Amino acid sequence: MTSGVDPVGRLPEEWRAAMSALGEKPFRAEQIFRWIHERGVLDPEHMTDLSKALRERLKAEGFAPPAKIAQVHAAADGTRKLVLELAQGARVECVIIPMTELGDADAAAAPEDDEDDAASETPGKTRITLCVSTQYGCAMGCVFCASGQAGLQRGLSASEIVSQVLLSKTLLEPNEELKNLVFMGMGEPLHHYDETARAIRLLTHPLSRGMSPRRITVSTVGLVPGIARLGADFGGKVGLAVSLHAPSDAVRDRIMPMNRKFPIMELIQALRDYPLPQRRRITIEYTLMDGVNDSEAQARELALLLRGLRVKVNLIPMNPISASELKAPSHARVVAFQRVLSEAGLSCFVRTRRGDEVSAACGQLAIADDLVRKKRERDAQRGSGT
Ligand code: SAH
Repeated sequence: MTSGVDPVGRLPEEWRAAMSALGEKPFRAEQIFRWIHERGVLDPEHMTDLSKALRERLKAEGFAPPAKIAQVHAAADGTRKLVLELAQGARVECVIIPMTELGDADAAAAPEDDEDDAASETPGKTRITLCVSTQYGCAMGCVFCASGQAGLQRGLSASEIVSQVLLSKTLLEPNEELKNLVFMGMGEPLHHYDETARAIRLLTHPLSRGMSPRRITVSTVGLVPGIARLGADFGGKVGLAVSLHAPSDAVRDRIMPMNRKFPIMELIQALRDYPLPQRRRITIEYTLMDGVNDSEAQARELALLLRGLRVKVNLIPMNPISASELKAPSHARVVAFQRVLSEAGLSCFVRTRRGDEVSAACGQLAIADDLVRKKRERDAQRGSGT
């Protein structure tokens, strides 16, 4: 079993098995796990308290950093987008997002809303939310999303997912503290469940002094069996965000093909069944698209649909992508939509466009746009009969 798992993706018990296979003492397992997940050291060469012989053997076994930072783009608002290079020519982006002195929009981007959060805050520290990818491209086909239009290239291993966190941490300033992790980059985490769940286990393992699962939010198009599995495997502790984007199957079928498999009422039932702890809420993401899902009537329909659910709604004016003509509504329409929801008693935020100038905003990950361009070129070549 162990030999199949990339070393950075191994859990402590798998390291123990690997060490025993090498005739090493069990405590080595804990040492190596902590080098990787507590200190972010991805190269055995730098694990200085291991014997030279063991370091050599680890390297011979194929233990090498699973990702490397190829580019860092910094925006004036402090957002940093990292381009990471992975094996087989895959490239993904992850985004470091500082939470400024709580404006509503920042509160909306942060997944947690526990009242005791203030107590866990370190004074003077800037809280960071990190957005990571789980796949290179995406199979879900949402029409407003560049990754969806690019199609799925491949899923990331848990070690590649975790590496995004470990490498991003090396770029944090001394006054910055990683607080929240959101699976909202490229890909559909619940369509790639096993590696996503393994990454969460690694990141929250007590030995790595990692994050609490409630600081992690998994965002999904609404894969109903995946939502149930996530709820059962992590006892509801992992935060859940659902990309709803429409209050009716007629509209949702058009913009999110997965809705034909898991229609809205099944999805809403899955949200009701999610074992959400007291005082937590599910995040409903709603990307506003001009003339598609942004009318006041649709806002009323949405409010009705969400009645009785413990949710907060994040409204995201759509970011333009090259693969689609769809665009954001006017500011006035966004405000009108929000007003209907607020008046219906829903907690509702409009998300600011952080990191716009480095194309780090939702759906604007440049790599996805790149993939779309390549796909079009291929399609055009096929079409011209060459
Ligand atoms: N597959 C997951 C997570 C990745 S996308 C999911 O669908 O939730 C993260 C969020 O960005 C989703 O809510 C997605 O619908 C939204 N998004 C994608 N493209 C966008 C765009 N062009 N403008 C605004 N939001 C977009």
